[in-house]
Amino acid sequence: MEVKATDCQANYRELLKDKKRIVIKIGSSSLQHPETGDLDYTKLDVLVRELCDLRNRGKDVVLVTSGAIAVGKKAVGMKDFNDGDNPIARKQACAAVGQARLMMTYQKIFAEYNQVAAQVLMTKNTIVDNLNRYNAHNTFDELFKLGVIPIVNENDTVATYEIEFGDNDSLSAIVAALVNADLLLLLSDIDGLYTDDPRKNPNAEFISQVDELTEELMQMGKGSTGSSVGTGGMNTKLVAATIATSSGIDMVIANSKDIKVIHRIVDGNPIGTLFTANPKEQFDLPLYVQQMHHA
Ligand code: GLU
Repeated sequence: MEVKATDCQANYRELLKDKKRIVIKIGSSSLQHPETGDLDYTKLDVLVRELCDLRNRGKDVVLVTSGAIAVGKKAVGMKDFNDGDNPIARKQACAAVGQARLMMTYQKIFAEYNQVAAQVLMTKNTIVDNLNRYNAHNTFDELFKLGVIPIVNENDTVATYEIEFGDNDSLSAIVAALVNADLLLLLSDIDGLYTDDPRKNPNAEFISQVDELTEELMQMGKGSTGSSVGTGGMNTKLVAATIATSSGIDMVIANSKDIKVIHRIVDGNPIGTLFTANPKEQFDLPLYVQQMHHA
């Protein structure tokens, strides 16, 4: 009997039920109220509940969260990073304030569900330097053994151009590779991958599964800007897909407007775009990170 591609795809989705170690990335734009830029506590609450429930199912969970800079900027009432003579220092000062606030909020909600959470802040050096990478890997392993949910962000307070990842899409894929996750979930303000920008082209078609990241696909992502809050557009998501799939990890991009998609996706429902794992023997994570450049 001939098996249709769609049947294969449905079967593949079923396999997501068996995932044991899941990295979930949420972007700044998904955590804020668009009207005010203040944190959306309802969304945060649902996010934390979903993550705790995955833990209760016996899965290892990592959260990669943005929001440090945005939350800090709000907290100190800064209008524009460029108002002073050192915009980088202003941004990093905001990150220092915001990261602590963000964690305080997360810790509070995680505590409501009796879940212990940890903070892990990274720079490129964490991956490129062999000793740092080894230590980070072991720390994550220990946190999983302890049943803790690590909350990861870039160390925005100290990271400048030479050592920064620049966006949390790539960072989450790098974390997924570092901890040997088997699923990466990118929650964003888009439904997934389209053949063209759906905001500009009404004929753009949705792509529900990608088994190979062709040059044509990668080119399609370039030039897409995404939202104005976070730093990731479609381009950074395709970079994340390259890192994840080459490391043997399935990745799904889905819309965060309903955070409950997390359990629906893990239950095998066809939501968002699935990039299937395509392990590449020659993929070298530290080398890849060392050579990464961001705009
Ligand atoms: N690390 C940045 C922050 O927490 C955000 C990076 C991103 O949005 O991709 O503010």
